[in-house]
Amino acid sequence: MATQLDYYAILEVSRTATADEIKKSYRKLAMKYHPDRNPGDDAAEAKFKEINQAYDILKDEQKRAAYDQYGHAAFEGGAGPGGFDFGGGFGGGGLGDIFEQMFGDMMGGRRGGRARTGNDIQTHVEITLEEAFTGVKKDVRVITRVACEACHGTGSEDGASGVEVCPSCHGAGKVRAQQGFFVVERPCPTCHGAGKVVKNPCKVCHGEGTIEKERTVEVQIPAGVEDGTRIRLSGEGEAGGNGVPPGDLYIQISIDEHGIFQRDGANIYCRVPLRMAQAALGTEIEVPVIDGSRTKVKIPAGTQTGAHFRLRGKGFSVLRSTARGDMYIQVTVETPQNLSKRQRELLEEFEKEAREDVKQSPEHTGFFRRVRDFFEGKE
Ligand SMILES: [Zn+2]
Ligand SMILES: [Zn+2]
Repeated sequence: MATQLDYYAILEVSRTATADEIKKSYRKLAMKYHPDRNPGDDAAEAKFKEINQAYDILKDEQKRAAYDQYGHAAFEGGAGPGGFDFGGGFGGGGLGDIFEQMFGDMMGGRRGGRARTGNDIQTHVEITLEEAFTGVKKDVRVITRVACEACHGTGSEDGASGVEVCPSCHGAGKVRAQQGFFVVERPCPTCHGAGKVVKNPCKVCHGEGTIEKERTVEVQIPAGVEDGTRIRLSGEGEAGGNGVPPGDLYIQISIDEHGIFQRDGANIYCRVPLRMAQAALGTEIEVPVIDGSRTKVKIPAGTQTGAHFRLRGKGFSVLRSTARGDMYIQVTVETPQNLSKRQRELLEEFEKEAREDVKQSPEHTGFFRRVRDFFEGKE
């Protein structure tokens, strides 16, 4: 991935700039680099695009918060083609369900991502292509830390009243220390960064406020999801303990390979082998569709290996839409093996009649005609 400039730098504002300041700076820069004012200037045009891209993110409170926390990665994800690239063409569609799931409730208590939270958890779930087509609800088992019930997450035998502001760091969670010529900040050794100390630690969680537990989380995977997509479940990560809000749970979706179908975005490909005589005489075949139904495809006489047939609207589901892509059948003609005596006789007879018939096998005839010319030209 190419290095990307910081959106704040592009808009020439500080990271703490207000929405108004961002808007003002954007207007000024957009005017300056507008293509109408710089006809034929490619650099200005590129700059103009950059400015708009940066403004698209920073003007939106939620996207800005996501960007503050995760940088450009917030808008890349593992989504792959057709994913959630906000720099590009998502425009008309607005925010996706997944985007909302990923970043929507970030604003609740996590403004700008600066608040302390419990750890995020990563896990992954495998689904079948059929499940990706219909969408599916999955129970995901995660080993996580949850608030200790014995002390209600306070870490103290005496409940909330037993928790005091850390005397070493006065609640900051960090201490400054001289290291050679430098003053460095490091987590407070007394409270380990929590800013609070527990007088009489809870016996169940040893004052942590959290205990390890296996949890089952239900995740709704939408129809049309792409392989590699990450879904974020806000607040489903590890509990922070001592009243710190929990982190988030990230679930990466991987889609199993399918024995019949290959998927490319909204389209589905299916290779169907035909017997030689079927391809020569023409036929009608029945093929499976990802939705579990069947459909018929007419194969015209004289069909060659590699021929494609498009079945409109029989492809994959499209995220957040009732639309469907197309299905493509690609046929291969299978040369028969293990012939019976009778079959062999029939084919030998067939071959006698077929030999050198230009209309029957134009490619074959054309090729061997060029071969003849090749040798004759040499002599
Ligand atoms: Zn401390
Ligand atoms: Zn406890």
